[in-house]
Amino acid sequence: MQSAAAGLATVFAGNALAADPGAPDSSGGNAAAAPEASASLSDPRGLYPHPPFQDQQQPWPGLASRMTPRPDHGESSYRGSGLLAGRKALITGGDSGIGRAVAIAFAREGADVSIVYLPAEEPDAREVVALIRGAGRNALAIPGDIRDEGFCQQAVDRAANGMGGLDILVNNAGRQHSHDSILDISTEDFDWTLRTNLYGMFWLTKSAIPHMPPGAAIINTSSVNAYDPSINLLDYAMTKAAIANFTKSLAKQMISRGIRVNAVAPGPFWTPLQVSGGQTMKNLEKFGANTPMGRPGQPAEIAPVYVALAMSRASYVTGQVYGATGGEGPP
Ligand code: NAD
Ligand code: MG
Repeated sequence: MQSAAAGLATVFAGNALAADPGAPDSSGGNAAAAPEASASLSDPRGLYPHPPFQDQQQPWPGLASRMTPRPDHGESSYRGSGLLAGRKALITGGDSGIGRAVAIAFAREGADVSIVYLPAEEPDAREVVALIRGAGRNALAIPGDIRDEGFCQQAVDRAANGMGGLDILVNNAGRQHSHDSILDISTEDFDWTLRTNLYGMFWLTKSAIPHMPPGAAIINTSSVNAYDPSINLLDYAMTKAAIANFTKSLAKQMISRGIRVNAVAPGPFWTPLQVSGGQTMKNLEKFGANTPMGRPGQPAEIAPVYVALAMSRASYVTGQVYGATGGEGPP
């Protein structure tokens, strides 16, 4: 764990040093909330919007551009230092939320980035493609539905052909829909969640591995729900536990190819998934209030963990699940 800790420290320090003010506040404006450009230290308690949040709902899958306040994905704050120079990444759900923050960070660290997203998310995806290109890297937009095995295979092939290789896969796309009781979850709902969160990850990973050279990294997005399931997210929580378990099994298999496999387990993050059916309005209003930090995370605050897990310097780190939870819950 020594190398992981050193790597994380490097990435976090680099990010804090380079960050600009300009993150959105709870009024939807742009009053400074991210760490200041010159600051070597920033107090995490004072950053970013705190609950209560205003009433809002969008149809699934939701758009980051229509959220109030707009999430901070690091658009104006993340500055790279070549940690992923020359790498080639495919990120599912790269249009918004955590996936967008990872796409921005990877590109600014020197990686070419392909993103997979749903066709309804084209406006968010266009912004991300422009941000990747703005970092001077190649961007590939791959719209489609990962519940379809054929699409998963094509998406990986398109990314690998388009970028001239593939050495980072981030399985981040996810479906979360709130239901008060198991009795309210239809077979169709259950199938939707499992096909997105588990089958899609399985098909994408199977397709990606033959393209991946030794040194490549696979990073899956799990959740605190893997260990401490929310009362209203039964089907979602079980998939997140399965993702953590899959990560550990796959890591044992893939080291024979020199591929590292890890997962990230976020706590509450301010993203479209939460305002498009992922939470009840009652939960959304006080979203993040129950964490010791007293607020939700912003996607920009978790992207450095993905950078640390992807970079070659973290060469002894595999089969792990890293939390970023504002202080709440295991592991
Ligand atoms: P998000 O809505 O910004 O991202 C989810 C993405 O999943 C969407 O942008 C969409 O492109 C993609 N997606 C969903 N269904 C798809 C499908 N059938 N085909 C292709 N793409 C599909 O929200 P987010 O919170 O950034 O979610 C990213 C990941 O983080 C998810 O796996 C989610 O479960 C996980 N997570 C989020 C939180 C949180 O509080 N926001 C907490 C723990 C884990
Ligand atoms: Mg989205």
